Amino acid sequence: MTTFWCEHAWLDDGPVAGVRVTVDDGRITSVQVADPAPGDERLPGLALPGFANAHSHAFHRALRGRTHDSGGTFWTWRERMYAVAGRLDPDSYLQLARATYAEMALAGVTCVGEFHYLHHSRGGGRYADANAMGEALIEAAGDAGVRLTLLDTCYLAGGLSAGGHHELDDVQMRFADVDADDWAARVSYLSERPGIRIGAAVHSVRAVPAEQLGQVAAAARGRPLHVHVSEQPAENDATRAFYGCTPVALLRDRGVLGPDTTAVHGTHLTGGDVSALGATGTSVCACPSTEADLADGVGPFRRLRDAGSPLCLGSDQHALTDLLAEARLLEAGERLVSGERGRFRPAELVDALTVSGHRALGWPDAGRIAPGQRADLVAVRLDSPRTAGSAPAQLVMTAAAADVHTVVVDGRVVVSDGQHVLGDVGRLLAAAIRPLWEDA
Ligand SMILES: [Zn+2]
Repeated sequence: MTTFWCEHAWLDDGPVAGVRVTVDDGRITSVQVADPAPGDERLPGLALPGFANAHSHAFHRALRGRTHDSGGTFWTWRERMYAVAGRLDPDSYLQLARATYAEMALAGVTCVGEFHYLHHSRGGGRYADANAMGEALIEAAGDAGVRLTLLDTCYLAGGLSAGGHHELDDVQMRFADVDADDWAARVSYLSERPGIRIGAAVHSVRAVPAEQLGQVAAAARGRPLHVHVSEQPAENDATRAFYGCTPVALLRDRGVLGPDTTAVHGTHLTGGDVSALGATGTSVCACPSTEADLADGVGPFRRLRDAGSPLCLGSDQHALTDLLAEARLLEAGERLVSGERGRFRPAELVDALTVSGHRALGWPDAGRIAPGQRADLVAVRLDSPRTAGSAPAQLVMTAAAADVHTVVVDGRVVVSDGQHVLGDVGRLLAAAIRPLWEDA
């Protein structure tokens, strides 16, 4: 049994000063306003519940600082991404993902939703274990001390235009299964274990033809199901041209939407799309730093929340690994588009980082500091150059990943005084990324 004494703790109604949180076997057993007792582990600043990073592609971390030359577009960015994807194997992916998840832990992430589509070996051949890449991600999360929902992704086609779906190219062969049944059979060999949940994903309506969508949804029933939706206008144009409807309408008609489903991005939506997502209780995952980096645009996130869609946040391509910044950028985008401040209250941003994020990843027992919940705590300093003077209730509008002092995942201290248990995470990242660009 361990007791953490929090200078401040974010409880269900917001921050409270002087809170003792007792933890036994990875669960919170009591939460009391009290003075510290001898033997308590003191957490400085504000202890928040653990953050869920609801949308990650771990290998995209290798692209940071590599895509800004030549005035690249989304599609030239994707070419660079494919070049990195083409070089990874299970050993190098384990090394890269371990460092990437450790960087997330430093930013307060206790649970990652990995939208995993880099399944097969070069040319599309199966590894001896067809899930070798997924197993590398599972091992990496364990090493980095974070929980993982592996959103194993169905990817069947190379793109979509007015004439229909395209053939897969060489790199995409690594992403693809034969059809939805083949995908489901492979996924059935992945097993859940402590800290690991197996979910599903439809890459997009570009990569999964309509007649296969229902099978993916059926195979995923009862588990988290994520899907990229309307990130770029080109996807909407192609879907309208071929199907005569929007991607959201297609997903709704094929039974993909619902409370276990999360639509990622939702940048370019019609009023009808917003209503359909809200009415079905479909979560929406905003990835504001990625949407800014890729010049996607700003989604109608306030309208989605008001329509009934819970909101969560993801660092997606990891141009930035700072979930506090993602939360702030969600509000910043709304302000820039609407000309109004306070579109999301700080408490709503914290909800997106914690409760709603964990729910979207299939962990309803995480995201709150309350008895019975998983013992995830993120202590954020109130005395750093960035945060000094901030009211705890508004800390989400000022703090950065660098202000995260301590991270506890399922009762285990993974980050202490800003240091990860694996050591120098910058070195781990550099060692994993450097070989991927040699001779590139
Ligand atoms: Zn994505």
